[in-house]
Amino acid sequence: MKILLNEKQLNEGVERLAKEINETYGDKPLTIVGVLTGSVILMADLIRKLEMPLRVGVVQTSSYQGTDRGALTINAEMMLDIAGRDVILIDDIFDTGNTLEEVAQLMKDLGPTSLKSAVLLLKTGRQQVTWRPEFVAFDIPDEFVVGYGLDFNDEYRNLPYLACLEPSDLPSISN
Ligand code: 5GP
Ligand code: MG
Repeated sequence: MKILLNEKQLNEGVERLAKEINETYGDKPLTIVGVLTGSVILMADLIRKLEMPLRVGVVQTSSYQGTDRGALTINAEMMLDIAGRDVILIDDIFDTGNTLEEVAQLMKDLGPTSLKSAVLLLKTGRQQVTWRPEFVAFDIPDEFVVGYGLDFNDEYRNLPYLACLEPSDLPSISN
């Protein structure tokens, strides 16, 4: 596995995000909604660097492969009430952008005062939607990455660094 971002670099990226968010919202109360499961590590590190009164909720998405695009299912039961609130939607990575766009659309319909989004990673050149998250810690090349919350088949989320998964890391499909 090739390390793309080490622990120190990740921490610096999260510091940058937190600084931008603190400067944008000041003392105004903020609601953070994280997309499960990939955003859990980012959420835990980021919210401890935020200084305003904060509420934290989560939303779960799952996409069913098998059909071309994989229809997205959104479970928003644990999202918190966001009507009349300033809200930031948090995810691990902005790839095609389809996931965050759909979740953001659902959230807008619930009447937040404002809705922005923050991601750890934006994968260069992969986007299929025109909008971009307001807060991005790192632009990364188009490679499949794991660690710091991101998985491959539900593993590797606990790696404290971000690594590119290479064919040699996948014994079952390398032959
Ligand atoms: P999008 O809808 O933006 O294409 O994809 C968003 C989701 O796809 C992310 O939340 C993440 O779960 C998954 N994803 C996209 N690229 C990667 C990647 O390089 N590594 C991992 N582990 N997941 C990814
Ligand atoms: Mg995800």
